[in-house]
Amino acid sequence: MATKRDYYEILEIDRNATSAELKKAYRKLAVKYHPDKNQGDKESEEKFKEINEAYEILSDEEKRAAYDRFGHEGVSQGAGAGFSSGFGDIFSDFFGDMFGSKQNKRTRQRRGDDLRYELKIKFEEAIFGATKEIKFRRYEKCESCDGTGAKKGTKPVVCPVCKGTGEIRQQQGFFTITRTCYKCSGEGEIIENPCPTCSGRGRVIKEKKLEIKIPAGIDNGNRLRVSGEGASGIYGGPPGDLYVDITVEPHHLFKRKDEDIYVTVPINFPQAAMGCDIEVPTLEGKANLKVPQGTQSGTQFTFKGKGVYRLNSQSRGNEYINVIVETPTNLTAKQKKILEEFTQESGEDSHPIKKSFFEKIFSIGK
Ligand SMILES: [Zn+2]
Ligand SMILES: [Zn+2]
Repeated sequence: MATKRDYYEILEIDRNATSAELKKAYRKLAVKYHPDKNQGDKESEEKFKEINEAYEILSDEEKRAAYDRFGHEGVSQGAGAGFSSGFGDIFSDFFGDMFGSKQNKRTRQRRGDDLRYELKIKFEEAIFGATKEIKFRRYEKCESCDGTGAKKGTKPVVCPVCKGTGEIRQQQGFFTITRTCYKCSGEGEIIENPCPTCSGRGRVIKEKKLEIKIPAGIDNGNRLRVSGEGASGIYGGPPGDLYVDITVEPHHLFKRKDEDIYVTVPINFPQAAMGCDIEVPTLEGKANLKVPQGTQSGTQFTFKGKGVYRLNSQSRGNEYINVIVETPTNLTAKQKKILEEFTQESGEDSHPIKKSFFEKIFSIGK
């Protein structure tokens, strides 16, 4: 003990160092020589003890004053005892988070779970939006105990084992081990008389009806978040959120791709050849489409702005109408005769695509 080093020297600080400077210096050195980082290194272990002892004295105003006046003699009495009891606190205050040994007191309050609901909607509801009522079961605050879990007229009491800190400390040689309190599971409080309605849980399962606003333009696979409509929080904690996953039923006529709508309309061959006015379906009902004469199968017509609303916007995609020409089947003898006459009447000029195609074929190898 006679060869003890100077505490200020150990901590590499000035004699006039402020408590903030002291703390900073201690922390830096303690991290450097911490046994977790220097396993089995005797010298580091000694240094670490030295640093802690120096800090233990200098961080206490009275002890520091005594040390300043009388040196090691001034603080040797009881310094050891003070060290061992005080060290736990210093240790956990400084290293708790860094080395994971400190467990903060858990509060009883906890956020409720998020919930997920699968909602199937009609094609049109997705396009134009809708209000849907959904029903589901969730935890809600118990009214009998107002969510406290304690029987009416009683209150949760401070845990007698941990005295409300939620943790139990054990001195194990040089270290203080902190464990979560077994009695209160770290909550610091226990319920002596549980509420009979919720068995002390503070929540009960109830059926909930909720109106969900479906925005126009929502698509298959989209998810809506309804804030705060999940399970209610535990012992007064905030509620979780409700997530509504949207499935859109397919439509028998329309196909949708993002904000565009596709529809296929069949016309017959005379209509395609001579042109016609036809009625086609749109999202808002029937509309007229002028098919010009000589329209080929597969021609696409566009109705601008007749598609789906972009989410949270007034702008819309387009509707695309694919016209296909239906080849007549199950011909009667009379129909065949007419078509034969038609063929004889038709020169190559009536079928320019066919003409050009065969010209290309016959030019192969020439
Ligand atoms: Zn209750
Ligand atoms: Zn406890």
